[in-house]
Amino acid sequence: MKSLLLPLQHFWHQSIRRQLVLGIVLVHSVLMFLFVFDLVERQRSFLHSQSLEQSISLASTVAANSVSWVLANDYLGLEEVIQSVSKYPGIRHAMVLSGDGRVLAHNKSDVVGQYVTDSLSLQLLHMQPSTQILTNNDVLQDVATPIFSNQEHIGWARVGISVEQTMAGLEVITRNGFIYILVAIVVGTGFAILMARGITSDLKTIVNVTSKIREGKSEQRVNIERNDELGELVNNFNHMLDVLHSQTRDKEKAWQELKQHRDHLEEMVAQRTKALEVAKDNALLASRVKSEFLANMSHELRTPLNSIIGFTSIIKDGFAGEVNDTQQEQLTIVNNSAKHLLTLINDVLDLSKIEAGKGEVFKEAVPIAELLTELAGFITPQVKAKGLNLNMQPCSDVSEIVTDKGKLLQILINLLSNAIKFTESGSITVECCHVADQLEIRVSDTGIGISHDQKDNIFDAFSQVHRGDSRQYEGTGLGLTITRNFVRLLGGNIYLESELGKGSTFIVSLPLN
Ligand code: ADP
Repeated sequence: MKSLLLPLQHFWHQSIRRQLVLGIVLVHSVLMFLFVFDLVERQRSFLHSQSLEQSISLASTVAANSVSWVLANDYLGLEEVIQSVSKYPGIRHAMVLSGDGRVLAHNKSDVVGQYVTDSLSLQLLHMQPSTQILTNNDVLQDVATPIFSNQEHIGWARVGISVEQTMAGLEVITRNGFIYILVAIVVGTGFAILMARGITSDLKTIVNVTSKIREGKSEQRVNIERNDELGELVNNFNHMLDVLHSQTRDKEKAWQELKQHRDHLEEMVAQRTKALEVAKDNALLASRVKSEFLANMSHELRTPLNSIIGFTSIIKDGFAGEVNDTQQEQLTIVNNSAKHLLTLINDVLDLSKIEAGKGEVFKEAVPIAELLTELAGFITPQVKAKGLNLNMQPCSDVSEIVTDKGKLLQILINLLSNAIKFTESGSITVECCHVADQLEIRVSDTGIGISHDQKDNIFDAFSQVHRGDSRQYEGTGLGLTITRNFVRLLGGNIYLESELGKGSTFIVSLPLN
């Protein structure tokens, strides 16, 4: 069933014109067939009932005219009655029967006086005395009517009429009906073809235009003049194409502009890259020149400064002859200034070395306890000179760190020097602890501390937050900058916790390996 349906569906769905024509013809044929069928059937039943009525009325007439002749047992009179109805068109038989079934009159005179033998007549003898329809088909209508005399049933009048003649007319009607059906199908098909062509030819035009648009001819439009729904569809379609066309044009324009911008951008990026390369080369050159300058200058400055410090010490201490108090005082100032200048030059040199990427790291296993002892040796004199306490707390669970010992010592000395410098009383503490794979060294003091706002730029070069204090603190403002750079060089980090007036803690976190 499915295998039959599929090709049928395929055939049906292939063309709208086919669907329209076949649909209209099919509906037309079915309706016409139903109409003709109904018409013929109505006509048939009308003719039947009319003919039956005539048969009944003929039998009733025979019955009415036969009463006296039956009572008188007059065969001649009855024969006359039968003769009078025998001329009726289509009459097959006409008879008068007595109540016990004897033929009193008949259109075939040879059976008169005999008793009926056919099954229908025998049935009739046992029926109620009322009009009986014995046969009623497309060939014959056989009707019997009782004959009464003073309400006594004395016999039957029976008439048989052929309806073939009447039904012959019906055949003509049926034939004509089929001719009408055929004419209707032909006319309907022609009309359907015309209508389908009217719709599908316009649809084809639309399909052709869409194909051309798909091929890239976007300026194509559908030229169809119609006022119906198809016309409306075409108008909307054309409008949609106009909108799409203008949008595409706008997009293309925007795309072109974008492309131009992109090309220009590439040009600009190339120009900027070139400029940056030049700037980088210049910066590298400047940095190299700066480093060379600083190296030369440090040598040129440090040599005479060391001489100044050395000779002023010799003179001040009286090794070159006696000096009075004023001279000693002035020589001390010169000596201190020279020392300060030397520190500044050393710091600037350290910083410039790191910034030029020349800070080298020499790693070795450094025992932490030893490191702290060495550190204590460096700073104990200064701590004692200020009357402060020094607490050194080595790690309990880690004994050594692999790092650059010189730089680590430099970091801690810088932090401790600051702690001593900015603490008037109390203590300085150095604590070590092991956090994950890091060694944390905390340098705390009970000094003047640093306010929250100043914490942020404390590590910037030349930043000195206590410069304006009544107490003059010596320094260059480079110590913490160098310290942070060293810590980073060793792969670690430095943080500050501090409260103004209560003290500060610098935390140095370094990788153990
Ligand atoms: P300086 O040579 O001036 O000490 P640093 O870079 O070492 O330069 O320190 C910068 C500034 O940070 C110092 O001038 C001081 O104001 C502040 N500072 C550093 N360490 C401490 C500390 N332990 N307590 C209070 N202030 C400190």
